[in-house]
Amino acid sequence: MGLNRAMESRPAYVVGAIDEQDVAAAVRMAVAQGRAVGVMATGHSPTVAADGAVLINTGRMNGVEVDPRARTAWVEAGTRWRQVVERAAPHGLAPLNGSSPNVGAVGYTTGGGAGLLGRRFGFAADHVRRLRVVTADGRLREVSADSDPDLFWAVRGGKDNFGVVVGMEIELFPVSQLYGGGLYFPADATGDVLHAYAEWTRSLPEHMASSVLLAQNPNLPAVPEPLRGKFVTHVRIAFSDAEGGEELVRPLREIGPTLLDTVRDMPYAEVGTIHHEPTDAPYLAYDRNVFLRDISKDAVDTLLAHAGPDAQPPFITELRHFGGAYSRPPEVPNCVGGRDAVFCLFTGATPAPGSLESRDRFLADLRPWGTGGTNINFAGVEDADPAIVRTAYRPGDYTRLTEIKAVYDPGNVFRINFNIPPKAAPA
Ligand SMILES: Cc1cc2nc3c(=O)[nH]c(=O)nc-3n(C[C@H](O)[C@H](O)[C@H](O)COP(=O)(O)OP(=O)(O)OC[C@H]3O[C@@H](n4cnc5c(N)ncnc54)[C@H](O)[C@@H]3O)c2cc1C
Repeated sequence: MGLNRAMESRPAYVVGAIDEQDVAAAVRMAVAQGRAVGVMATGHSPTVAADGAVLINTGRMNGVEVDPRARTAWVEAGTRWRQVVERAAPHGLAPLNGSSPNVGAVGYTTGGGAGLLGRRFGFAADHVRRLRVVTADGRLREVSADSDPDLFWAVRGGKDNFGVVVGMEIELFPVSQLYGGGLYFPADATGDVLHAYAEWTRSLPEHMASSVLLAQNPNLPAVPEPLRGKFVTHVRIAFSDAEGGEELVRPLREIGPTLLDTVRDMPYAEVGTIHHEPTDAPYLAYDRNVFLRDISKDAVDTLLAHAGPDAQPPFITELRHFGGAYSRPPEVPNCVGGRDAVFCLFTGATPAPGSLESRDRFLADLRPWGTGGTNINFAGVEDADPAIVRTAYRPGDYTRLTEIKAVYDPGNVFRINFNIPPKAAPA
């Protein structure tokens, strides 16, 4: 089972692959037996039940090779971001990792990948040089813009709909320091913080990444004492320019007293402390998200009413700043959506009675500010319907994805996922 237990699966076989040949053999076996194929590295992101399928677990394939001169890394399928960050840091380099060091680098990147350097450099998928992919015919392919432009375009954003990525070459960036951390505000400051944050984000340089998390913290020893058992509004900061961070953060500090302020100069290797997300204990979360084109005063009031400290029953909400380099097309095009968004609002509901319903009412009420799009990396088990999956892509791109799927996986072998069905052949 994966880390997020929101979906139970009973696969026919679980293949603990140790190399790309194992992956290819597992796909061939599945096809020969008429079974679907699913892939899992960490299990952070369940989609549909893998019942009767062949589930390929890539957790043992976790090699990382950094080439400091080329500023690239070769990353195997089961590698977590922590390993890439650790290997790149001694060379003064950083990958475009996400907020949690425990997330799988390949699962994240094939879904776009919006991290703490993204407003400056774009999505992680925009900086993949080449891939090795096992497709539904059991072939191991070297995939790049030159060798297989359609497949290269589709896999960077299309997750595992087109095959199992066994390794990827990614670009690294010369970032060794951050001014970053968290400003943790008490519940009664939430309204002031959200209104000030929305205004603050309007004039930020692209070197500044930020988000706000609204969450009721459990009363557990693992939670730092000043935050324990409290509703906390947590502003996260990651500023990657050499100077000016403190000045930029000043207006947020002036909002009022914090429960905790961890924003400081830090080596990039400590990037995982900024969001301070849970580590490897299994959990239950029902995630959903919307891309927003703006966050007006009314949008902030809507957010407060549904997800603020008085909202019942609670769920966690993250508002993440997009724009900047995310909105620019990459040098080598891919299918990643969300380039028209200024924010992504992500929610994680719990099994508590009413949590799912109140989360969905909240998302529906935000529709006036939405782009109509969603982020496939922040999607949850209730988003597996193809009608929802297609909202992660521009309409023309979605059609092209179904056409490419029909070429590389006409039998929809890779369907234990946020599925993009193959375009039906004309009658
Ligand atoms: C705590 C936390 C923080 C996060 N932060 C961010 C963030 O900052 N930015 C962001 O963009 N996302 C973020 N995410 C979302 C994350 O990127 C996705 O959930 C991602 O799919 C996780 O990949 P995984 O390998 O860890 O999970 P898994 O559940 O093992 O895999 C999830 C999916 O990834 C795909 N996948 C995995 N391995 C392969 C492969 N070898 N080939 C092809 N497809 C594959 C498949 O579709 C698979 O179903 C976060 C998630 C969590 C839980």
